[in-house]
Amino acid sequence: MGKDLIILGAPGAGKGTLAAGLCPALQIKHISTGDLLREVIASGSALGQELNGYVSSGALVPDELIGRMIKDRLGAEDCKAGVLLDGFPRTIPQAEMLEEILAGLQRPLGAVFYLSVDLERVIRRLVSRVSCQQCGRPYHLVNLPPKASGVCDDCGGQLIQREDDKEETIRKRYATFMEKTRPLIAFYQAKKLLVEVAASDNPQDALNFVLQQPGVQQ
Ligand code: ADP
Ligand code: ZN
Repeated sequence: MGKDLIILGAPGAGKGTLAAGLCPALQIKHISTGDLLREVIASGSALGQELNGYVSSGALVPDELIGRMIKDRLGAEDCKAGVLLDGFPRTIPQAEMLEEILAGLQRPLGAVFYLSVDLERVIRRLVSRVSCQQCGRPYHLVNLPPKASGVCDDCGGQLIQREDDKEETIRKRYATFMEKTRPLIAFYQAKKLLVEVAASDNPQDALNFVLQQPGVQQ
């Protein structure tokens, strides 16, 4: 299995949480397009303001922009040992861009882990979600609380709630997923790369399941 992996799933499916467990275990780099976008937005630049228009409304950022961002990122030195893509690709054109980028780097895609989840569970999770302002690690105030209230276990950063984790925006993001991203399931199934991971309220379950897949630990 190649060392480049994808986590696919609706908002709130647990992509970031799985990535936080999986990347240190496999010693691959976590690439979250959501985190990359939020960094640019926080910088307050003109590009950041433009991006914020899409993100805060629950829409997708144009494929072109995301494609360029990912291409730059994957070519970097710290991605040589393999990456876990979290939040990319999110559309069929993005999946096609990724194929081209990886072919250019002569890296085969290892697997696509699909985290299935329904809308009610998504809302239940996201309204109680906070994440680290510094490293992006997600927590859930009930299911996965930090050791000390308001502080990241990993880096001591401050835990904050994301602006797009409001019920109305969550519904919009979920609808965007169903329309634009769900077709990727069939796309990767056809390539025999898709592995479905069942939703659970215990984040350790998804991690254990993925680590048991043939080829993942090599
Ligand atoms: P979630 O999966 O919980 O919605 P992310 O942090 O992955 O959270 O993404 C947050 C937002 O960033 C998305 O709603 C979208 O606006 C934007 N975004 C992230 N990744 C992409 C992508 N690959 N293509 C387009 N927009 C993206
Ligand atoms: Zn942190």
